[in-house]
Amino acid sequence: MLSRRNMLAGTALALSMSLGGTAIAEETFVTIGTGGQTGVYYQVGGAICRLVNRGSKDHEIKCTHTTGGSVANINGIRTGDLDLGVAQSDWQYHAYNGTAPDKFPDGKFEDLRAVFSVHPEPFTVVARADSGINSIDDLKGKRVNIGNPGSGQRGTMEVLMDKMGWTMDDFTLASELKSSEQAAALCDNKVDAIVFTVGHPNGSIKEATTSCESKLISVDNDAAKGLANDNDFYAMATIPGGMYAGTDDDVTTFGVGATFVSSSNTPDEVVYEITKAVFENFDRFKKMHPAFANLKEENMIKNNLSAPLHDGAAKYYKERGWM
Ligand code: GLU
Repeated sequence: MLSRRNMLAGTALALSMSLGGTAIAEETFVTIGTGGQTGVYYQVGGAICRLVNRGSKDHEIKCTHTTGGSVANINGIRTGDLDLGVAQSDWQYHAYNGTAPDKFPDGKFEDLRAVFSVHPEPFTVVARADSGINSIDDLKGKRVNIGNPGSGQRGTMEVLMDKMGWTMDDFTLASELKSSEQAAALCDNKVDAIVFTVGHPNGSIKEATTSCESKLISVDNDAAKGLANDNDFYAMATIPGGMYAGTDDDVTTFGVGATFVSSSNTPDEVVYEITKAVFENFDRFKKMHPAFANLKEENMIKNNLSAPLHDGAAKYYKERGWM
């Protein structure tokens, strides 16, 4: 123990000398809010933590991650339970602007800060092949998993339903399973369809399309197109045909972008080191999940970010000459 402490003290000293006093002298534990284990957020959070933890001997930051989903992540950052988190662009916008009081009851979250954006997340609907569902309108009268409260897809599903003039009574069952549970529920015939706002390809939709006969459903009605037209944080999106068993043609839907967010109360040094860990290891980061394959640095520092940039992230982007 003693030698470990001495070693840490020595490292911290060396670091504070090398960074001119801006170093984090003690071990700092950072928690990142992500999503269900079979989605992409969990992998993003894990990938970022692995990159950060590789450099722990230099910056003394240790990183772990949790599984709540967009809305839970933003609320967790607000209460201080989480330091950073992944969140859909729609929920980042609404949290910062105070425009979704049912999700963020404390009003505008003015301390919310954007760090960078990550992958696109098409709003994805998978239906059992025997369900008779061929379009989003066919969900009426069916058993649908609308997602756990706190998840981004639950919120975005409610927005879409609202736009379509639907309520929960339009389903024979509206279940609230977590994303990690819904593929099994679909294939056990407990529900006819599941929804997930998620990057592709991912484990959850793979499981749902390989464990039983099912297919992806287009979400391209007037409601979806209206949402994409009227809001910068939504856009129409395509899930390529052939990516999943049972769906050979491209699927058109609307979608959001996944973003990485924090709070102005999370120290600049912490956000700086995490941002740096990602961008200094960018090729490695992109290989950590197939949904990251097309990421480009110049887009990540501006697309889908409606809250102001965190000062720690901006410091790194300026150092790189990107701002
Ligand atoms: N977009 C989902 C959410 O906000 C999570 C997606 C994922 O787990 O990759 O809850």
